[in-house]
Amino acid sequence: MPYTEQTVQSVRPWSDKTFSFTLSRPQDFAFASGEFVTLGLKREGRLIARAYSIVSAANQPELEFLSIHVPDGPLTSQLVHVQPGDSVWLNGKPTGSLTLDHVQPGRVLIMIATGTGLAPFMSLVRDPETHARFETVVLVHSVRTVAELAYRDELESRVNGRFHYVPTVTREPFPTPERGSVLFTSGALFEKLGLPAADPAHDRVMICGNPEMTREMTDFLKAAGWTLTNHRGIGNFTTELAFVTHHA
Ligand SMILES: Cc1cc2nc3c(=O)[nH]c(=O)nc-3n(C[C@H](O)[C@H](O)[C@H](O)COP(=O)(O)OP(=O)(O)OC[C@H]3O[C@@H](n4cnc5c(N)ncnc54)[C@H](O)[C@@H]3O)c2cc1C
Repeated sequence: MPYTEQTVQSVRPWSDKTFSFTLSRPQDFAFASGEFVTLGLKREGRLIARAYSIVSAANQPELEFLSIHVPDGPLTSQLVHVQPGDSVWLNGKPTGSLTLDHVQPGRVLIMIATGTGLAPFMSLVRDPETHARFETVVLVHSVRTVAELAYRDELESRVNGRFHYVPTVTREPFPTPERGSVLFTSGALFEKLGLPAADPAHDRVMICGNPEMTREMTDFLKAAGWTLTNHRGIGNFTTELAFVTHHA
């Protein structure tokens, strides 16, 4: 699939480790809310590209992304400096396992994110179809510092009787200091929100975050009788890694 040259429309820093940016959206670029694409920068004629979840909902005019800044990262050490008008190269083939078609409709949809793993869930929260398919939608976002709670204002403004936003901060004083995975596995999440305990017969779970959290939650859910959606069919939970850890 060829890359096309897109233009940066806006940049928004959140913390020294995270920032968001928007790109022009090619007219024929279709995606499902929750999917990711590959994007990159050309430096000295060479393309450096990485996977990025789309923060925008499928019906929004621009393509928005939430990025980590890894100081010695081949892409993000450069990407952190982009300004409106700069070029970013976008692969036209979105994909991913965090779309509404990866879980059956149900009672409660619980989305658990760490760090930039929030990105695909922003897309789903912004998509009215998500709220049409579930009675209740819960988003838990765990980060280390308060500044990393990207999109906090928007998410708080979306809270209503059917949408719950639970931010948690693990390395600074904050009302909820537990990791999202701990809130889920202990059941404290459901008590806190006044919801029935999660039940694979009625509820659906989506997970996007660091590899350890994703593995921990996957093991917990499988042991508790949940089924991971895979090529064999649609289950009641689905996951995606927010990044892959490279060992030197
Ligand atoms: C399916 C998928 C979707 C992704 N979506 C996003 C996204 O929406 N936003 C985003 O910022 N990144 C996302 N990533 C990670 C992204 O592809 C790059 O790894 C990231 O942009 C850093 O690129 P880099 O070249 O600077 O460093 P890399 O060489 O790619 O990474 C260096 C190291 O930094 C750490 N790292 C990389 N990405 C992250 C991250 N997001 N959070 C915490 N630590 C990280 C890892 O330890 C990694 O080994 C996604 C990865 C996958 C597989």
